[in-house]
Amino acid sequence: MSLTIQLSGSGGAQLVPAFGCDCAACHRARRHPRFRRRPCSAMVRYNGAVTLLDAGLPDIMDSWPAGSFRQFLLTHYHMDHVQGLFPLRWGVGAKIPVYGPPDEQGCDDLFKHPGLLDFSHTLAPFVMFELQGLRVTPLPLNHSKLCFGYLLETARSRAAWLADTAGLPDKTLTFLRNNAPDIIIIDCNHPPKAETPRNHNDLNAVLAINESLGCPRVVLTHISHQLDVWMMHNPLPPGIEAGYDGMEIVLD
Ligand SMILES: [Zn+2]
Ligand SMILES: [Zn+2]
Ligand SMILES: [Zn+2]
Repeated sequence: MSLTIQLSGSGGAQLVPAFGCDCAACHRARRHPRFRRRPCSAMVRYNGAVTLLDAGLPDIMDSWPAGSFRQFLLTHYHMDHVQGLFPLRWGVGAKIPVYGPPDEQGCDDLFKHPGLLDFSHTLAPFVMFELQGLRVTPLPLNHSKLCFGYLLETARSRAAWLADTAGLPDKTLTFLRNNAPDIIIIDCNHPPKAETPRNHNDLNAVLAINESLGCPRVVLTHISHQLDVWMMHNPLPPGIEAGYDGMEIVLD
């Protein structure tokens, strides 16, 4: 039984192209839609069941009609990761489970007026649970809002989703070292900078993390137009690849 992770969005909150920007990356994305980057999110399919990992796509309801997915799995309650939930909650039909970190605030009035959404599935760090046979372990990340990454695990493979984050907390790094993922999909909002930014990784931070993990395949996500411009002039190191909208990762 294979595990499929499809990136439905690989951009940061600013998106590519960024409003009003005419840098080389934004210019290219306007001319060629395949270079656009929508809000960072993914579709995870295992055992015939679809989980939507984050809900930042504003038109999520058009791509995923009622019944086409089983649940949401949220990393955190920043707008670029949950905005698609706002219209969807006023829909008709069965409740939809939402799994996510124990953030008491959430985003705007989502918890006060959940509509169809069932936010009772609050997760605890490092406490594994199952979604239709897929084993999922929440991993604390470093971000300006309470944020979990996830280890997604089947009998034969492991993938770690690590966004949004700046570096990784020691406990998460140790957990990942002990559970050696086959692939990590990780926040790399920024091109290499002299100092690691506060809320998101730059490429140097990703390389430092993987120095310690030794993961054979690293996919970058939450990519800004500045990193796109950087990548137009610089190759990525071996084993590191840029994610893109629609990218499909299939694990055994
Ligand atoms: Zn974000
Ligand atoms: Zn730009
Ligand atoms: Zn965020």
